[in-house]
Amino acid sequence: MAVPFRRTSKTKKRMRRTHLKKSLPGMTTCPNCGASLKPHRVCTECGHYKNKEVIAMAETQEEEK
Ligand SMILES: [Zn+2]
Repeated sequence: MAVPFRRTSKTKKRMRRTHLKKSLPGMTTCPNCGASLKPHRVCTECGHYKNKEVIAMAETQEEEK
């Protein structure tokens, strides 16, 4: 049976929620440099995707300087 919101003590609520936990997202490693990535994303370290250079990282680093 459902219990009203204020009838459940802070302790009881927190005890129940100890089993609720955020799970880590699925991660893959870059085949070019080995950095951990989210799947289906271009590598932010080297700019590679599916073993091809998609973003020229040397040019972007020069622009930042
Ligand atoms: Zn990489």
